[in-house]
Amino acid sequence: QKKILLINRPEGTPDHNDFKVVEAEIDQPSDGEVLIRTIYISVDPYLRGRMNEGKSYVEPFQLNEVITSGVIGQIEDSKSDRFSKGDVVLGSLGWQEYSIAKEDTIRKIDHNQAPASAYLSVLGMTGLTAYFGLLDIGKPKEGETVVVSGAAGAVGSVVGQIAKIKGARVVGIAGSNEKTSYLKDQLGFDAVINYKTQNVPDALKEACPDGVDVYFENVGGEIGDAVLPLLNNFARIPVCGAISSYNNETEDKGPRVQGHLIKTSSLMQGFTVGNYSSRFGEGAKELAGWLSEGKIQYEETVTEGFDHTIDAFLDLFKGKNLGKALVKVGDI
Ligand code: NDP
Repeated sequence: QKKILLINRPEGTPDHNDFKVVEAEIDQPSDGEVLIRTIYISVDPYLRGRMNEGKSYVEPFQLNEVITSGVIGQIEDSKSDRFSKGDVVLGSLGWQEYSIAKEDTIRKIDHNQAPASAYLSVLGMTGLTAYFGLLDIGKPKEGETVVVSGAAGAVGSVVGQIAKIKGARVVGIAGSNEKTSYLKDQLGFDAVINYKTQNVPDALKEACPDGVDVYFENVGGEIGDAVLPLLNNFARIPVCGAISSYNNETEDKGPRVQGHLIKTSSLMQGFTVGNYSSRFGEGAKELAGWLSEGKIQYEETVTEGFDHTIDAFLDLFKGKNLGKALVKVGDI
């Protein structure tokens, strides 16, 4: 089987030289373990942070070790009473074709209720990030204006749709006309901005005539800076991500935020989805309900083949994905 190791701490934008694909034996499970064949690998921007050394909310990857992320797989061999051959499971597993996992580190998913890939996207980590960040911190009310950046991505596209369900006016910022058309025509966003072709501060002023009540921050940098002058009193800013700075080689500096927050009594709060792990069941249930009622839709950009896993990851920083970026390694 093949495995993908991190062999360098990337400086700036990662490239193929930071990774190595190696051949390895397929291990056999011991008592309480299972052998899993990889079906889908989730590639995510937050993995870039784990490639750096230093303290963060998740441990950094070790050099010359296999990269891990969300994986859906199928049990090939089980030495656990809890799992049988054929079960489809979700876990944080390696970028490899087969994995050994302890029974208490994976969970079964029902791929008859929703396609298996959805447990890595709308019903999985990114859907839950949107759900808890928006509803617990953003708290959108009917008629309010919600702005979301990274709007056509896995998290952002769900944020915008939940905000619509809550009766808000939704403005999405994304990086191509294909993406902004999707948000407007398919998902019903009220206004969209292409940050690559439009002047963002001007376009935001036009798209938000009543100011901004919630800004769901996925990208940081100049886009985030452009939203702050438009905040209404008691605005809420869930700070989910700052992808525009993940590949910076020097410290990110920008306009200071304090004045805007003080003037408007706004709340800016960072979070990680892990903060809500005890409530994942509640979030997944509500998301599944909205999905089955047709109130939310989701898109996935699926790269076929294990050999293209690194490309699929690198493509996140080029904005190639619409919705959740996944790699399909095999069939169920
Ligand atoms: P996405 O599906 O949104 O993919 C990344 C997208 O980011 C790209 O498609 C691209 O879209 C955009 N992008 C890339 N580079 C830049 C840039 N320099 N400036 C602006 N936009 C850029 O990923 P996710 O939905 O998984 O993640 C979205 C954000 O949420 C990330 O910042 C991520 O780190 C964060 N996150 C945080 C979590 C938490 O627990 N706090 C959990 C999960 C994600 P475009 O074409 O529009 O540029």
